Amino acid sequence: MRILPLFLSLVLLGQGSALAKTKVVASFSILADMVQEVAGDNAEVTSIVGPDADAHLYMPKAGDAIAVAEADIVFVNGLGFETWVADLISNSGTNATIVTVTDKVTPLLVEGEVDPHAWNNIDNGILYVQAIAAGLSDIDPNNASSYKARAASYIEKLEALDTKARKAISAVPVEKRIVVTAHDAFGYLANAYDMTFLAPVGIDTEAEPSAKELAALIDNLKEVNARAVFVENITNSALIDQISAETGIEVGGRIYSDALSVQGSPATSYVAMFEHNVSLLVQKLSQ
Ligand code: ZN
Repeated sequence: MRILPLFLSLVLLGQGSALAKTKVVASFSILADMVQEVAGDNAEVTSIVGPDADAHLYMPKAGDAIAVAEADIVFVNGLGFETWVADLISNSGTNATIVTVTDKVTPLLVEGEVDPHAWNNIDNGILYVQAIAAGLSDIDPNNASSYKARAASYIEKLEALDTKARKAISAVPVEKRIVVTAHDAFGYLANAYDMTFLAPVGIDTEAEPSAKELAALIDNLKEVNARAVFVENITNSALIDQISAETGIEVGGRIYSDALSVQGSPATSYVAMFEHNVSLLVQKLSQ
């Protein structure tokens, strides 16, 4: 007769907060990686928008609503990046805590619009990590010391990455730091490291440039002597190929703007993505 209660209590313990992992949803792959770094083994992290996918134009699926409904906490970028996420959250009926990781970021304005790509400045990445650690500690106070320690060591890594990037870019003369990408996703990087990024498409990926706008950009690129054009992992390369053909500026490779890469490609984490982007930019701009 004593076996059954013991068995039951083990089952109950297994379902209780002491052993069950915190269920976390992040809106896109870069944020999911940052959350996983802070959470370690204490949480199960799901990303809504996967690697190499465009979060601007994402259409949520039924499975996303289920994941959000079952989540203990949901992390979103905000600043208008995920235009679909507010509806997804309200339609899911979730009781999860919602954390917007850019709450303490100073937004960059591009032609009067808020630029959502704040993670492309490491200082902001650190604000993301702090918001993630605070959010996880709030809903799972038993593991707060682990989140704090993991966040601190992650922030140290990010500070070292920033120092390294700053040093590498400072070796490229300012007048050579002119880059072309498909959409305007690197304004925060440009600000942090005194670079110029030009793009035929604005801060979201929805708009197509008119023939006139494209012609004006191409004229401008010839004038400013832009050094390199890059394709992005989340956008079609046709525009960049056209710009390259009409200007004679070589396509310098692929950079990762709004999503990590799939396994086996060079940007499977926020840190790897940043390192890859900076080292490719420096290499092509130095030529
Ligand atoms: Zn974008």
